[in-house]
Amino acid sequence: MENNIFTKKILYRYIILLFLILLFSEKLFAGNSFVKSRIRQGELRLYFSSKIERVTYFSIPLKDGTTKYVYDIHGATLPKGKGISHHTFRTVESFRIAQNSPTKVRVVIKSKEKALDKHEFKGKMLIIPLIAGRYVVGFSDSLSSSAKESKKDSSSKKYHYRIVIDAGHGGKDTGAICCGNKIEKFIVFSIASKLKKKLEAKGFKVYMTRDDDSFVKLPKRTEFANSKKADIFISIHANAAPSKKTRDIFKGIEVYYLSPAKTQRAKDAAEKENAVMFEGKDFYTKNEYLSLLNREKIVESHKLGLDVSNEMLKNVRSHFGSVLNGGVKPANFWVLVGAQMPAILIETGYITHPKEGENLMNNYYKELLAKGIADGIELYLSRVYK
Ligand SMILES: [Zn+2]
Repeated sequence: MENNIFTKKILYRYIILLFLILLFSEKLFAGNSFVKSRIRQGELRLYFSSKIERVTYFSIPLKDGTTKYVYDIHGATLPKGKGISHHTFRTVESFRIAQNSPTKVRVVIKSKEKALDKHEFKGKMLIIPLIAGRYVVGFSDSLSSSAKESKKDSSSKKYHYRIVIDAGHGGKDTGAICCGNKIEKFIVFSIASKLKKKLEAKGFKVYMTRDDDSFVKLPKRTEFANSKKADIFISIHANAAPSKKTRDIFKGIEVYYLSPAKTQRAKDAAEKENAVMFEGKDFYTKNEYLSLLNREKIVESHKLGLDVSNEMLKNVRSHFGSVLNGGVKPANFWVLVGAQMPAILIETGYITHPKEGENLMNNYYKELLAKGIADGIELYLSRVYK
């Protein structure tokens, strides 16, 4: 009899314990359930049963050139049998979703594309862009009317591109000087300002690394572009002949993209533009510099350079006759180091050349240069992100 009571007591305790465990786990797991996934307008959209509170993110570059993008949705659960739909998308190698911990759902996407860090979440939805050069459009319109949404998107696609214009030098750093009146920092600022207006007129979002005559350290310039999640970085400069004797010889519009310099002209130009770098303490080591070089970015920057170069020459030649094509060349400019987007540096001409120097002081010439750069950017983007 006593024995029976004892067993009953244990049984009751066991039941209470079980009840507590259930209650506790109920609390633990009664999170935000994953509902479904959809791909719309180049974005992966993940829907949850209630409001997303927090998403943390990190990425791991892999040896094969792709990147693993990892998103943790906190307070979320993955119901049994649910997963990311069997999506295939041209820029994505794999999608994965799993319950990473009792209170965290982890999404892992393997892709070469550089846009996936521009994810956003709002309400019950997490949106991950799968195509570079765009950023989340899913919130721009009512989600229930997706037809309306896609219509709006196609007509205003360009609004999603961000461009950072870097007017070279500034403040105590004058850049090249010639003939008393030709000062690089002022010439390039004038071109940059015109370019800003032209790009904005085309519908792009534009940022300037400096919007007055102030000194900005070189690493800050690409840091700025990265922080703005820019799609394109354009640094504008003007060149100078190495000596008075060679003033008549050196001329032409040159475009550079970041890559180990090959030609002597490229090395000289880089040395000149890099000079200010050695004044400050912030100095990239060779290793850091090399680790930031990325094959795909080099190729894209080269393509961008070709489009911009062609359009610039087309525009200035239409009114100013022959202007030498100095080519599109690799060089190691510090100002391009660390840019996480296609980046080019334009030497808009030689201020030391008698004719070109005068052209660069001419307002209309600078207008045409700016128009050419803007046209080139537009052309490049229309080809890459169709
Ligand atoms: Zn310069």
